[in-house]
Amino acid sequence: MEDIVNTLRKSFNTDTTKSYEWRKTQLLAIEKLLDENKEQFVEALKLDLNKPNYETIVYEIGTVKSSINFCLNHLKTYIEPQKVKPIIQARAVYSTYVQYQPFGVCLIIGAWNYPIYLTLTPLIGAISSGNCAILKPSEMAPKIAELLENLFPKYLDTNFIRVVNGGVTETTQLLEQKFDHIFYTGNGTVGRIVMQAAAKHMTPVVLECGGKSPVYIDETADLLVTARRILWAKFTNSGQTCVAPDYVLCTKETQENIIPFLKQILQEFYGGSPKDSNSFARIINERHFDRIIKLIDETKVVVGGISDRNEKYIAPTIMFNVTVDDKVMNEEIFGPVLPFITITDRNEAIKFINSRDKPLALYVFSNKEEVYNDFKNRTSSGSFCYNDLMVQLALECLPFGGVGESGLGRYHGIYSFETFSHQRAILKGGFFADSLSSFRYPPYSDSNISR
Ligand code: NAD
Repeated sequence: MEDIVNTLRKSFNTDTTKSYEWRKTQLLAIEKLLDENKEQFVEALKLDLNKPNYETIVYEIGTVKSSINFCLNHLKTYIEPQKVKPIIQARAVYSTYVQYQPFGVCLIIGAWNYPIYLTLTPLIGAISSGNCAILKPSEMAPKIAELLENLFPKYLDTNFIRVVNGGVTETTQLLEQKFDHIFYTGNGTVGRIVMQAAAKHMTPVVLECGGKSPVYIDETADLLVTARRILWAKFTNSGQTCVAPDYVLCTKETQENIIPFLKQILQEFYGGSPKDSNSFARIINERHFDRIIKLIDETKVVVGGISDRNEKYIAPTIMFNVTVDDKVMNEEIFGPVLPFITITDRNEAIKFINSRDKPLALYVFSNKEEVYNDFKNRTSSGSFCYNDLMVQLALECLPFGGVGESGLGRYHGIYSFETFSHQRAILKGGFFADSLSSFRYPPYSDSNISR
């Protein structure tokens, strides 16, 4: 590990990565790697997660490619120092800039649920900002990890960018090295381990974690559209999405009113048997399968509840009248189980949300502007999405990241440039008009103190 980091550091010190050409070439190489090996990625994700082809091509490869596109379009701007205006009195003597300067050698630790997107999107940010990087894909999606390790040397410049595979032992060894930036995606427990390792070298970190993202449904919401969007977001990748809705808050009346729509939509999405649908993924491994199954209380299931351990299949499952004491409310579900909790009104919903860890995403469905304003002003979350879900992630104009327990830092779009760069202050002066600032030189005169 030490040798790899040293090699990359030596390469960084050649200043090659700072050029526009190098950055552009590497970004285009990632695009080519994806285009020329699309089938292999689809196949690998089938083996790792039984991920539907559509989800691999659109949500993994497609999103990475649009991120490349965005960075290519903004690269020239961010390479040049950005001119900023000082106060009017200083303008005559100084020019001021913010220079986006690469940190050096970055470590990117990815998670398994979107193993292409969660490794390559941060890498695109690191490259666009002129850094060297080591990518550590999750060992829990081994086919993708292996594919990335095999393909990288064929497309990317390995003097500057490497894939290192492995589990806890290898990641621990990597974390013993000195990096200039660490970007981690995964659970908060390991996030703390990463942060502790980074502290030793005062290395800046981004922690993209998860948590329980709530949905509130108001009585004015269009329940058919609401049901369709919630179930799409919940059951994509079998619920193994960091911004998937974790639980729903609504009144007892709304819970009763929405049930026919939920059943109708599930039928539309997956037919009578989701197990036979090629639009429904599997659980990553037996450990997670057993964990999720333990969260299901059969007495509260209104839809689903069926499972098959051999196939790591858990049917889309909806539970009604869940309470905070139920197991399903004590951890992030990260699986195809959607609990409903009834509340009396939106004040109670806001109080409920605010009494828990700040979520990665908060979703509200309503037709009333005052409901939008109330949640916007009285709650905190990584992102707030009104009348839709997960789309906030796909728009490069928005930052993506958590707050509190759901994470630290942000990326996507220009926020990736900011995350992977040191924003260096530059003040450029000259030798003229020194008399204009003579008031600052000793001997001091009290008459120069402005009151
Ligand atoms: P994971 O098990 O793949 O772990 C993430 C990474 O941490 C892996 O690369 C793994 O090798 C490494 N790791 C594991 N144990 C380690 C240790 N002891 N020391 C050092 N490194 C270690 O993924 P996970 O944690 O199961 O991912 C699921 C969680 O991640 C959920 O909470 C989910 O919400 C969150 N998540 C967040 C985002 C986001 O963008 N905010 C995206 C995906 C997942």
